[in-house]
Amino acid sequence: NIYAELISIGDEILYGQTLDTNSHWISAELDKLGIRVKRKVTVADSEESILNALAEAENNADIVLITGGLGPTKDDLTKPCLAKYFQSDMYLNEEVLADLTDRFAKRGRDLNALNKGQAELPVKCKIVPNQYGTAPGMWFNERGKIFVSMPGVPKEMKYMMEDTVLPDLKELFKTPFLIHQMVRTVGIPESTLAEKLEDWENNLPQEIKLAYLPGLNQVKLRLTASGEDKAKLELLLQQEMDKLYKEVGQYIYGTDESNLAAKVGELLLSKGLTIACAESCTGGHISQLITANSGSSAYYRGSIVPYHNDLKINNLGVKAETIAQYGAVSEETVREMAENVRKLFGADIGVASSGIAGPTGGTPEKPVGTIWVALADGEETQTKLFNFQFDRESNIDLTANSVLNLVRQ
Ligand code: ATP
Ligand code: MG
Repeated sequence: NIYAELISIGDEILYGQTLDTNSHWISAELDKLGIRVKRKVTVADSEESILNALAEAENNADIVLITGGLGPTKDDLTKPCLAKYFQSDMYLNEEVLADLTDRFAKRGRDLNALNKGQAELPVKCKIVPNQYGTAPGMWFNERGKIFVSMPGVPKEMKYMMEDTVLPDLKELFKTPFLIHQMVRTVGIPESTLAEKLEDWENNLPQEIKLAYLPGLNQVKLRLTASGEDKAKLELLLQQEMDKLYKEVGQYIYGTDESNLAAKVGELLLSKGLTIACAESCTGGHISQLITANSGSSAYYRGSIVPYHNDLKINNLGVKAETIAQYGAVSEETVREMAENVRKLFGADIGVASSGIAGPTGGTPEKPVGTIWVALADGEETQTKLFNFQFDRESNIDLTANSVLNLVRQ
């Protein structure tokens, strides 16, 4: 494996004034090349911190990518530190100077001493052109390791990476291929999933690694294949995906970036079906998830949020006796809600929610987290009871996603 370490330089990051988006972006780009980021560090604008970070990184990695501290002002120390670290003399690079002079002239300005200093560079580095700023990047190949210093300004850094650094690293290290495959599951807890997949996981070919990425209402699996032969990796991944579908296919709703509501939307569209919602405890969240996808008007009819019982009765036609006898949070009530909204809104599918989202309310028989949902399709009505024990927002989100999962099935 080829290892990289990233160094972000700047007091402003340590003070919490700037979020270090550079290392986040660089990590993802290196990952695509199959270069493993072993460590990221952030250090202050101080000579001691920078020199220490360089020494540690040299021990730790093959490639060291540095951002920040390349400006013309006194607090920007990266360049003198690199020169000192590699014991390199400085020289005035005439090309860079001419380019700087030219850029300033275009803006009607003369170079001052500080700007001119930007053209002073360590003898031991190669220049990485900077289309968007005045500080050139520096590429060092010393003691068998690569060090690249780039400005902190994200736009300038990204340009250098894409234009020069990434292509050169790819060429130099002939990095192996890395293919990620995301698999999205819903309706099964991580531990149950892991249990079902134990045998499969133990027999994965050595080229493929598995990671569980659990979220609140879904568990993502990431398969990562790495090796020299791209075609072979693709074949291996395909074979393992087939096996995975055999084991847990019923819980898999997608293998790309899209979300559950989008998948449900595609499904409804392909079957020519429409949906309407009667949302009590979810307060419109199911509708919000559905309508967040463009084109949803093709399958989404509308919703009613009858938070109070009189609205459940008078506007949605739930029988007063049902609520009196069983309560608003009951199988009987959500069943009528789903069936009635389906008819009232002229939809093929009606879904409903009613429950106690918490954190207060509830009774010994129906504690906080007791949530009933239903789905009516004109032929039969399914109901389901949940007992979610999270905070209010999570309980609501889990309920809405569980309803979408019912529709998917
Ligand atoms: P310049 O030549 O423009 O002075 P520089 O190399 O000196 O560039 P810095 O002064 O460290 O860069 O940072 C310039 C700006 O870039 C900062 O104001 C900050 O907003 C942004 N920046 C610096 N480091 C990062 C980082 N790691 N992630 C995101 N933004 C950053
Ligand atoms: Mg700075």
